[in-house]
Amino acid sequence: MLYLDHAATTPLRAEVAEAMAPFWQERFGNPSSLHHVGKAAHKALREARAQIAQALGGVDPSTLIATSGATEANNLALKGLAFGLRHQGRHLISTPIEHPSVLEPLAWLRSEGWDITFLPPDAEGRVSPDDLAAALRPDTVLVSIMHGNNEIGVLQPLEALGSVTRAHNVLFHVDAVQTVGKLPLNLTHVPVDCLSLSAHKLYGPKGVGLLYANIPTQTHLTPWLHGGGQESGCRSGTENLPGLVGLATALTLALEEQPQLTPRLHALQERLLTDLLALAPEARLNGPRNVTQRVPGNVNVSFPPLEGEALVLRLDLEGICVSSGSACHQGRLTGSHVLHALGTDDATAQSSLRLSLGRTTTEGDLDRFLDALPRALAKAGYPQPLQTHPSCSPAPSRKEG
Ligand code: PMP
Repeated sequence: MLYLDHAATTPLRAEVAEAMAPFWQERFGNPSSLHHVGKAAHKALREARAQIAQALGGVDPSTLIATSGATEANNLALKGLAFGLRHQGRHLISTPIEHPSVLEPLAWLRSEGWDITFLPPDAEGRVSPDDLAAALRPDTVLVSIMHGNNEIGVLQPLEALGSVTRAHNVLFHVDAVQTVGKLPLNLTHVPVDCLSLSAHKLYGPKGVGLLYANIPTQTHLTPWLHGGGQESGCRSGTENLPGLVGLATALTLALEEQPQLTPRLHALQERLLTDLLALAPEARLNGPRNVTQRVPGNVNVSFPPLEGEALVLRLDLEGICVSSGSACHQGRLTGSHVLHALGTDDATAQSSLRLSLGRTTTEGDLDRFLDALPRALAKAGYPQPLQTHPSCSPAPSRKEG
C-alpha cells in the first residue's frame, strides 16, 4: 500500500500511542472527580494543556479550548463569536475556498440573519489584504480565513491579513488544520486571535482538536455545548484525556520535526510536480507552481475530461491511496467548490487529483506513483498524450485498458 493522502488523515505515531496508553485503563479518572483518581486525571489534563501551550509558542494555557476536532473548533469560533458579538454587529468576512466546517456554519448564520462577505481568490487561490481592508465595515465582527487550503494547498498571507484585522480592531480566526506541523507556528508572533487545529492531521488521534481563543471568552464567545462547564465554560463535556495527551505529544513532536520536514517535503513536492507535468503535459496544475507557496507536500492536478473519482479508484486498484477534491466531501459529483471559486471550468473542477505527502514519504514512493499513473490514466480513458519519463515504464496503449 502506498499512502499519499496525508491531508485526509495521518497514521498515529508510535510515540503518541505510547503516551496515550496509560490513560485508557490505569489512569482513567474523570478530571472533575474529587478523589485521588480524579485529581491525578486533573493533573494530567493540566500538564497536557501546558505542553500544548508551550508547543504553540508559550501561549497562556487558558486560551486553549479542547474540542472533538477542527470541525467543532471552527463551528465554535464562527457561531460562538457571531452570537457572542451580535450586539456589536452582524457582518462576517471569509473566503469561498474554506473547508465545509467553516462554509456550512457561515451558511447557517446567513440563514439566521448575518451578512457574510466572501473575498474573491485570484486564479491561484490567494485572497488579497487590500480586498480584506475594502470589505471591512463598521459592523464587521469577525474575519475567518484558512491558512493552507486542504485541496489545492494554496497558502494565504496570514501576517498581512492579520495586520489589516488588527488595524481595524476586528477579530481574526484562522483554520490552520493543514499547516500545523508543516510550517513554523508561534502563536505569540502571528496577528491571529483564534485558531483551529486537529490532532489527526499531525500523526495524533482522531476526534480531538482545539480552538486557541486569545479573547475574553466569557463576554465574546457563546458556548455551543452547555453542561458541566468544562473548558472554562466554553465547551462542556468530560474531557477526552487520552486524546489530549495524544494531541500534546503529537503537536510537540510535529513542531520539533518541522524545521527538517518542511524542506524535505518541498523537495519531494517539487520533483513530483515536475515529473507529473512532464508525464502528462496536458494536465492542469491547481494552485501556485512555486512549492513554497503551497502546503508542504501538497500537489493538485486536474486531468480533464476524466472524473477525479474514477482516477482515484484506478489508483486504488494499484494499491495507491490519493484523493480527488477534498476527502471530506467525496461522493458528491459536483466538482470541487474550491476550483469553482477560482473560476475553473467544470471539466477541470471535476477531474482534480490531490496527492499529499507525509513524513514517511520517500523518493521511491514517488517512483512507484509515477510508474502507476500512466496505467491508471489509460485505464480510466484519458484521451491526452502521455510522455514516458525516465523513472516510469512506458504508458500502455489504450486497448490494453
Ligand atoms: N479544516 C480543514 C482545512 C480540514 O482539512 C479539515 C479536515 N479535512 C477540517 C477543518 C476538519 O477537521 P476534523 O476532521 O478534525 O473535524
